[in-house]
Amino acid sequence: MTPIDRAHAESLDAGDPLGHLADRFVVDDPELIYLDGNSLGRLPRSTLARLAAVAEHEWGSGLIRSWDTWIDLPARCGDLIARSLLGAEPGEVVVSDSTSVNLYKLAVAALDAQSGRDVIVTDDDNFPTDRYIVEGLAAQRGLELRMVASDPVHGPDPDLLAAAIDERTALVTLSHVAYRSAALADLAAITALAHRSGALVLWDLCHSAGSVPVELAAAGADLAVGCTYKYLNAGPGAPAFLYVRRDLQASLRQPIWGWFGQRDQFTMGPGYDPEPDIRRFTVGTPAVLGVAAVEEGVQVLAEAGIDRLREKGRRMTAYLVDLADEWLAPLGFELVSPRDPDRRGSHISLRHDDAWRICRACIETANVIPDFRAPDRLRLGPAPLTTRYVEVWEAMDRLRRLVGSGAHLAYGAERGRVT
Ligand SMILES: *Cc1c(COP(=O)(O)O)cnc(C)c1O
Repeated sequence: MTPIDRAHAESLDAGDPLGHLADRFVVDDPELIYLDGNSLGRLPRSTLARLAAVAEHEWGSGLIRSWDTWIDLPARCGDLIARSLLGAEPGEVVVSDSTSVNLYKLAVAALDAQSGRDVIVTDDDNFPTDRYIVEGLAAQRGLELRMVASDPVHGPDPDLLAAAIDERTALVTLSHVAYRSAALADLAAITALAHRSGALVLWDLCHSAGSVPVELAAAGADLAVGCTYKYLNAGPGAPAFLYVRRDLQASLRQPIWGWFGQRDQFTMGPGYDPEPDIRRFTVGTPAVLGVAAVEEGVQVLAEAGIDRLREKGRRMTAYLVDLADEWLAPLGFELVSPRDPDRRGSHISLRHDDAWRICRACIETANVIPDFRAPDRLRLGPAPLTTRYVEVWEAMDRLRRLVGSGAHLAYGAERGRVT
């Protein structure tokens, strides 16, 4: 039996210690193969029940009285994320706002703490919102933005990064796992490199939280943000998380002085005097339904265990690569993710001249959902918690048949508003 036999996939599923957890998610169409859990994770069944309970009992019946329990939800949920997924301590993570807003808040907090330094470092293949936010900050504050050239497959070059970080550098901000190629940055080494020059580092964990272990404490990481609607399965627009190392908390100030960051919030005092802890990085009333969904989503991941999730992610992407080599390379596809599973997260990208049309045809005729990333990448994200090995096999089989038959050529080249 070789990897290209369906039986191989079946045997991998039979030995999969996480296999039973797929049943915890809503699957409406068993024929649909969903390879976009890294963009919007599936809906956990427990979340449906929890959201109904929060709406009906806590909101409907409890009304304002429910704030007694809601008030601690963002910090409690942050503690769960810290312990189960981020290698951080309770009290170092809180759920609030969106990733973009958290990135802005923590970047400003870092810049304000680094007076005399006037450089921000990021890379030119970083996620758009990350680049735009530091571009905006550099423009508003007259800072220099150093965009380190990134290899499209392997991510930011360590030598170029080292050359860009010096005693003028206030802040370095990078993605832990690159959104297109899945290149995995060496979080500990880059953090240590930046610290040698006195710079603070702000990590974006959107594509790593819930898919690879993130050892923030072990790395001495300063700051991090990440979203919850990808591998954390908390639903569209669910609030994001932020991390601030404990010993930095009392000295950092974020720019939006809201009442949820205020010490003794309900004394409604005259001037802003923020909490000494992680709560000072929150702003206003939390989106309670969204945070409840985060808690449900993370509980399933915590039960699976991040090391087992990582192992399955490595195996599933390796399986995708084997099948792509065998079936798709002859059809004009090229792997544009690191070949070494230790150097990538839980998705892979394939380059093809017709990637956009193939992606449309895949969704509309093959009932497989990958996604397209400009300019010419097809991104395949098997979620360790919800994707089975036979689905990986089946998706690649449908894909090779589709492209082999030329069915995608019937699709127009113009792109939709959302890709
Ligand atoms: C998905 C993603 C975001 C999203 O930010 P939002 O504020 O939730 O829209 C940011 N950064 C990275 C690296 C992402 O992958």
